[in-house]
Amino acid sequence: MPRKEQSVIIRLGLDDTDHPEIGCTTERMNELVDIILSRIDSELIERRLVRLWPFATRRTRGNGALGAIFMIHMGEIEELYSICSGWFSELCEEIERYPETEFDPSPCLVISESEVSDEWYWTSVRGEVDCDKRMLDVQDAGCTVLVGESHWGVVGASAAISWVPGTFSSWELIAWRSEEKIGTERQVSETAVSCMGSLHPGAFVNRDPTKGRGLIAPRTPCPVLYGIRGSCSEDVERAHEWLQKRTDIEQCSCSAIHRTNQLSDDHIESSSSGTVISTPETTKGGHAMIGAITPDGRFNLVAFSEGGPVNRLLRSLIPGDQISWTGLASPDGSFHLEKLRADKTSPRITGRPICCSKTMRSKGKGQGMKCNSCGRMRHKYWLCNGMEGNYVAPIGRWVEPSPSNRRHLARPVSLMQ
Ligand SMILES: [Zn+2]
Repeated sequence: MPRKEQSVIIRLGLDDTDHPEIGCTTERMNELVDIILSRIDSELIERRLVRLWPFATRRTRGNGALGAIFMIHMGEIEELYSICSGWFSELCEEIERYPETEFDPSPCLVISESEVSDEWYWTSVRGEVDCDKRMLDVQDAGCTVLVGESHWGVVGASAAISWVPGTFSSWELIAWRSEEKIGTERQVSETAVSCMGSLHPGAFVNRDPTKGRGLIAPRTPCPVLYGIRGSCSEDVERAHEWLQKRTDIEQCSCSAIHRTNQLSDDHIESSSSGTVISTPETTKGGHAMIGAITPDGRFNLVAFSEGGPVNRLLRSLIPGDQISWTGLASPDGSFHLEKLRADKTSPRITGRPICCSKTMRSKGKGQGMKCNSCGRMRHKYWLCNGMEGNYVAPIGRWVEPSPSNRRHLARPVSLMQ
């Protein structure tokens, strides 16, 4: 381990190495970290997994980039660069040996010897970034950038070294599969994941209770066995050790803990509040849309059928309702909802009053209502209620999709203050 006064902090960022046949970026970074730790006098300070803007034109699966922060002995800096460039060229050669696909990897490794501005992170988590411009910015800032033929990966790689974890950072332990298991069915039992949830409450959002389904194992043929999310690194570590002792869980080849921006809502600027101005329109697939206005203008709010409670609440709204929401402006001009709340609702007409167990009937314009059984006449009025009886969430309470239909970045309602 290097002594502090003779050491320097190095930040590595890696992205866009995902390839359907030859591994994912999490495993690649783990490989590089292992090589560095075994070959030079260094200490790994932290690994990072940073999720980026969900609508980015070119995004890797889950749109996540990897970071690693090392303390290394000053005398080993050159060796570090040599290891990184050797490893990176081998990676590019390996990718080239496979036939081209529509989403060919465009790997990028950024190395920085100093802290960089967090602006790269914020622009990459909240919007589209021009990769040519980012490439120049990163080089201007004095970072070393390793790229192959294209450099799409520079957006995520630079964002990963630029992220400054805030109050809302969380942790994910990723466990990888042994080589011979990759491509076979993962052995990760639902019972185990469910028990893990009750025994290790600090490990959270690992299961979708509405579907009775664990969320820790990916469903793609990638080298990841599972990822356990939680509020602190000790909790995810303990949950992982507990899982690995069970017979209904596949043994992993290795694992590592990452600090992440998952569940942070960093992709969202703020929530908005406004008034509903149209009745909901529903498509064949069950997606729903309404118009709402705020002092900033008009929004076309969309709730996909997968949004579950958000979709149901949206469909029960009527003009005049006051609501709040969070979500993302989609490049198509609509606004995709992530959370929705009814703040104050317009009255809903439920019908005319009852007399003799029957609805009173209007006798025409300006004429009042009459009971057709006893002949009683009354002034005309409607019976109304708020949203009671229609479904929906209590007034003032946020609703969100079930855990399996939420974005990695979305902050669960249960974690909002
Ligand atoms: Zn009557």
